[in-house]
Amino acid sequence: MLNNDSKLQKILIVGGGTAGWMAANLLACKWEDTEICLVESKEIGIIGVGEGSTPHLKFFFDAIDVADSQWMPHCNATYKNGITFDKWSAIPGFESYFHPFAAQTDDVFTVPLFFKNVQARMQGYNVDAHPDKYFLESYLSEHNLGPLPDESFPFGVAYGYHFDSALLGQFLAEHAQKKGVSRIYANVTDVIVRNDGNLSGVRLDDGSLIEADFFIDCSGFDALLMQKTLKVGFKSYKESLFNDAAVVMPTAISDVLPAETKSTALTNGWAWKIPLRNRFGNGYVYSSDYIDSNQAETELREHLGLLESDTDARHLKMKVGRVEKHWYKNCLAVGLSQGFIEPLEATAIALSFNTIAQFMQYFQQGQFTNKYESEFNRDINGRFDGIRDYVVCHYKANQRTDSDYWRDNAANPNISDTLNKILTLWQKSPDFAGDMVKYNLIGAYQPKSWACMLAGYGVFPKVNTNSSIDYSAHQQELEMLRDFIRRCGLNFKRHGELLTP
Ligand SMILES: Cc1cc2nc3c(=O)[nH]c(=O)nc-3n(C[C@H](O)[C@H](O)[C@H](O)COP(=O)(O)OP(=O)(O)OC[C@H]3O[C@@H](n4cnc5c(N)ncnc54)[C@H](O)[C@@H]3O)c2cc1C
Repeated sequence: MLNNDSKLQKILIVGGGTAGWMAANLLACKWEDTEICLVESKEIGIIGVGEGSTPHLKFFFDAIDVADSQWMPHCNATYKNGITFDKWSAIPGFESYFHPFAAQTDDVFTVPLFFKNVQARMQGYNVDAHPDKYFLESYLSEHNLGPLPDESFPFGVAYGYHFDSALLGQFLAEHAQKKGVSRIYANVTDVIVRNDGNLSGVRLDDGSLIEADFFIDCSGFDALLMQKTLKVGFKSYKESLFNDAAVVMPTAISDVLPAETKSTALTNGWAWKIPLRNRFGNGYVYSSDYIDSNQAETELREHLGLLESDTDARHLKMKVGRVEKHWYKNCLAVGLSQGFIEPLEATAIALSFNTIAQFMQYFQQGQFTNKYESEFNRDINGRFDGIRDYVVCHYKANQRTDSDYWRDNAANPNISDTLNKILTLWQKSPDFAGDMVKYNLIGAYQPKSWACMLAGYGVFPKVNTNSSIDYSAHQQELEMLRDFIRRCGLNFKRHGELLTP
């Protein structure tokens, strides 16, 4: 909490999308003595997509002390065990794999055997190293079970959510206002900069001026304060992430409610399928260098069985990359104004949460000065680039050869040194996980996540059929693990049942 003699009397947030209202809630909960004001434009509106999260959304709600039961029903929200990647690989046996979140407490039983068998498979032994066989979350997902166990079950499972982003925004706006945040509907027409380069206020379309000590730019892809006014540079990820557009449309929800996001590779990108309580959200994320918006819409309709339907489609453009500085002078950029990594791993909310939470920590530690601005920017840039590397790896490791898009992605030389090193370790190291730690390669994702992806796509050498090594013990251990997982699964309810109030 701020001291009474702090100079930080007022913070102005520009933008009322998910990012703006997340920032408003966190600030209002933690810095109760500071006046928080948010201005948003009804005319411009919000982007209104973004329906999947990582476990960070839970961390956010925990931080503002809101339980699942308080917000989920308002936002048609469901639970997410992870993501199934379908048709990203054409290798027989690896056409689909499920990706769990990291940090489950039961990992201590499952991860060691997974790595043992992955390493054996990397040496050419005919051991089953498909990740779907090793994790409780895959089992839960396969059987449409939710991630909340019975009370007596000793392990926790990490989970994310699916939600209606417009309803989430509304919920957060109401909650923040109850905590004292003031909300103004207006267009910001001008941003006033002081002689020292700091911001002093914004001019609204009714001519009024709002002044503040600190500003949070949540103006979405417009990036009104950080990029347009303060001229902070933007580092594009386009050379390694080709996708720059999406087309979105809903379908009816199924009787049995899945507890996972499904990502299906199409000819020039991938389609998401996200279960909400009342509908599926669907979208095709593609590169406009390879396919135009009409072709993309037709392909999505075909994929969803909606060719004859008049369901409206929404088309969106995406600017993929990040700002060079997320905190500069007396301004912080959060959400799409600070950057965006295409939605394959649904990380935007996680990045917004990390940005606000870490900023508050550094700002407070530095007595509300810019003392830790460089450290903060280095951390957040590292996080962005780390997630970028992981998402790029999906495209590098894809095992499809049916279009220029997939072939160009696999052959793309524009990958970071870090990703290069990780891929080399995968091919050469007898201890992939240990060497990732040894060579300081752990960033946004743990070795388990990298191994799940690479094993899930079947990035293995050919099985050595001449090997005389007896690997039956590996298989037996796997059978015992499968039995353990099946018994764990008895402690979980069907997802639909879990959500019934
Ligand atoms: C195709 C796609 C899929 C996505 N999927 C996911 C996902 O699965 N998971 C995930 O976490 N994220 C996802 N995202 C990202 C997610 O949509 C955003 O991170 C999230 O909605 C936050 O957006 P925002 O608040 O930064 O911007 P916006 O929602 O665009 O809000 C911007 C705000 O600024 C206001 N504004 C702008 N200019 C002015 C002005 N001059 N005056 C006043 N107000 C102004 C607007 O009115 C609005 O209130 C996806 C994005 C895209 C494009």
